[in-house]
Amino acid sequence: MEKTYIVRLSDILDQIQSYLPGADTRLVEKAYVYAARAHAGQVRRSGEPYLSHPLSVAYILAQMKLDLPTIAAGLLHDTVEDTNVTIDEIRHIFGDAVADIVDGVTKISHLPVKSKVHKQAENFRKMLLAMAEDLRVILVKLADRLHNMRTLEFMPEHKRQRIARETLEIYTPLASRLGIDWLKRELEDLSFMYLYPEEYRRLREEVEKVVAARQDFIEEVKKIIAEKLEEEGIEGRVLGRRKHLYSIFRKLQRNNLTIDQLYLIYDIIGLRVIVKQIKECYQVLGIIHSLWKPIPGRFKDYINLPKPNMYQSLHTTVIGPGGRQMEIQIRTEEMDRVANEGIAAHWLYKEDKIISSTSVKSGQLEWLERLIELQKELQNPRDFIESLRMDLFPDEVYVFTPQGDIKVLPKGATPIDFAYAIHTEVGHHCARAKVNGRLVPLDYELQTGDIVEIVTASNQKPSRDWLKFVKTSRAKSRIKQWLKQEEKQRIIAAGREILDRELRKAKLTLSSFLDDEKAEEIARSLSFKDVEELIIAVGYGKVTPQQVVKRYLLEQKKEEDIEDEEQELLQRKRIHHQKGPESLSVEGTEDVLFHLSGCCKPLPGDEVVGYITRGRGITVHRADCPNLENLDPERLIDVKWEAGDGASYTAKIWVLTIDKKGMLASISGAISATEANILQAELKTTQDKRALFNFVLEVSNKAHLDRIINNVRQIDGVIRVERKLA
Ligand code: MN
Repeated sequence: MEKTYIVRLSDILDQIQSYLPGADTRLVEKAYVYAARAHAGQVRRSGEPYLSHPLSVAYILAQMKLDLPTIAAGLLHDTVEDTNVTIDEIRHIFGDAVADIVDGVTKISHLPVKSKVHKQAENFRKMLLAMAEDLRVILVKLADRLHNMRTLEFMPEHKRQRIARETLEIYTPLASRLGIDWLKRELEDLSFMYLYPEEYRRLREEVEKVVAARQDFIEEVKKIIAEKLEEEGIEGRVLGRRKHLYSIFRKLQRNNLTIDQLYLIYDIIGLRVIVKQIKECYQVLGIIHSLWKPIPGRFKDYINLPKPNMYQSLHTTVIGPGGRQMEIQIRTEEMDRVANEGIAAHWLYKEDKIISSTSVKSGQLEWLERLIELQKELQNPRDFIESLRMDLFPDEVYVFTPQGDIKVLPKGATPIDFAYAIHTEVGHHCARAKVNGRLVPLDYELQTGDIVEIVTASNQKPSRDWLKFVKTSRAKSRIKQWLKQEEKQRIIAAGREILDRELRKAKLTLSSFLDDEKAEEIARSLSFKDVEELIIAVGYGKVTPQQVVKRYLLEQKKEEDIEDEEQELLQRKRIHHQKGPESLSVEGTEDVLFHLSGCCKPLPGDEVVGYITRGRGITVHRADCPNLENLDPERLIDVKWEAGDGASYTAKIWVLTIDKKGMLASISGAISATEANILQAELKTTQDKRALFNFVLEVSNKAHLDRIINNVRQIDGVIRVERKLA
């Protein structure tokens, strides 16, 4: 970690010549002059001229042996952000390749990152990859972050913590995915040092002690191996390599060990044998296993089965001299380089001419193709290759709320989708949308990185047109639901008006009708659930207003006879069957009014019992309803279901599932597939990562409900489904 050394242009140019001998570096020199002028007078917190930062970043990129546009972009990466230079000017002077990289880096630094970033770290990383169509943007960003971490001591304490955590959560995983091991190690150790200074200091001391104590042992083993290699005529090197501190720290944590128990970790220093050819790797393995006894189950052949980031090596653990365990890695020089440099090793290594941007892209794609090819050989297809591929060609866009929360939406999603993703009410009242501070049409296609702000208005309503462009099923279903509800209100208004007109002919009014308890009974007697449904039917013309008024007049006349009728019911139990209006029948009665009990919500097909109420006909309960116990047994009466009449009934179920995304959608889908309506849905999540859904459904009978319960049971992730008793 060179903290104090100030990089000069000549260092960068020398470094470039070491891997691109004879390259024309005028682009880089021009970028240097330009950056020096743009940043003139600016000073870093360390007191150094600002230019020292882009110089260091460019030098890191040169150490990664990247192409000239990338190094030039490294020099220019902060000019658009921090000076009055524009991206158009950069494009004009340095061309598209450099400008696109600078632009990408600038966009990434504009992303709002919240302090509680870890909750969405994965999304954030995906977003970075999605935004950086060119992976060189990520490489410049990583070099930028590395230099900022190397100079973090000049930042105030609270910023250090935030930046170090962000590095650990966003940037080290990115370096790891791209296989750039040295960068990952250095970033991790720097973050570790700032986040846990005390542990870092103690661990470093202890590790130094352990390393010192094991030094002789390591030297001895190295000597034995080196001699054997020579005997066998194999050209190679043997290295002793200490694990980096953060990985030791993590290993202690994983094994619940304290720093004092460091001696229990045997592989703090690993041995590495580097040879020229692949077949020699296996020869060396044979030699080592003949020298020392291997520990079963610890041998890994990453040569035949590379790691997802293309890491290749043989690993084995043996019982070395003195009965001490040691881990040995065996690989070729090329494998060692890939293990260390990752994607950078595959970059433009073969390039010998001035590098054009198209060849860069093809280099990048070649690397990706190799990754994808590799994936076919991997046993676990859910490995990161797949995810990296999706990261680079994503079907998703990642956008921000003004508060910096990330929302993941399907590609093509619009501000309306975003609004419904925030809240249904925000969706319903979405009047205008601003993206990155500018008003956009509501069918604007959101881009990854957009900051989206929804302006709501209380008088704004969903429009049927929205259905033409929204992408998420959530937005679609909410809009449809709202439109349906709105149509219902219109029909109700029409129905009320029609009914009122007819009532007035009989010298009655709608309000007196609605106030009358009998309105409810008339609705039921005409096979409607309630008065509202009756009015809707009138609005649609399914029932004429004359029918309703006629019944109403009849009911009024009947009122006086109710007491008698009730007595009759009690006496005439079990005489003969007669069909009732709700498809129910009672033995020995005619024209009985049934109510389905609200507590247990019986369905056609359920075993049921009737209860003769005082003045309100018969209430039907399920035979297993717990409330029956409290009722007067004298008033209980046998009732039976008749053949279905197409009416619908409400039923309640509960569903216990594991807590994962999309459960509600799958369950609703299974329910809707049976043509049942969901009247109400409610979700509770439990501490043990489960979710409990309560549904109120509209079904036609018990068989229908059973079918629903069966369907829901089939869904992956559903643990239990039951009908609710009461
Ligand atoms: Mn910078």
